[in-house]
Amino acid sequence: MTNECVEKREQLGQLYGSVLGSTEVDPLFRGFFDHTRRNELAMPRCGRCRMVHWYPALRCPHCASPDWHWSVMAPQATVFTWSVLRHQLDPLLPVLEGHIVALAEPLEAPGARLVGNVLATPSDMAVGLDVTIEFVEAAGTELTLPVFVPCAGSCSVPGQRS
Ligand SMILES: [Zn+2]
Repeated sequence: MTNECVEKREQLGQLYGSVLGSTEVDPLFRGFFDHTRRNELAMPRCGRCRMVHWYPALRCPHCASPDWHWSVMAPQATVFTWSVLRHQLDPLLPVLEGHIVALAEPLEAPGARLVGNVLATPSDMAVGLDVTIEFVEAAGTELTLPVFVPCAGSCSVPGQRS
């Protein structure tokens, strides 16, 4: 992993901490963050129709069953769409030039799309790009968030689940 990758991870951790520092987690999302803290991606899976959905909701959006549970997914996904931020989102937040945001569809959850940052440069990006889902701790919080790392990129961390 290059120094640039380490720096990007630290920037994201600081940014997430700035944004989420005082946020109280919605109880519906608690299971998601319990898994991300263990470097696992888990999404709601319906006990009746077996479909995965995102975001967590009281009832399955496919069949309206209230019977769903957290299902751990393989951390592979493909980029559905992406964008590069080139302006400051909030005067209190740092400017992260070239910051990439994407929607990625986990391989085990067709049709469900997670939003997250990509540890890559814009020239690496493409719709359909294969990514590994890794995790970054939000500085000063107990929250860990998923980030997307191109499978062919140089930012993956040895030891993280892939
Ligand atoms: Zn269902």
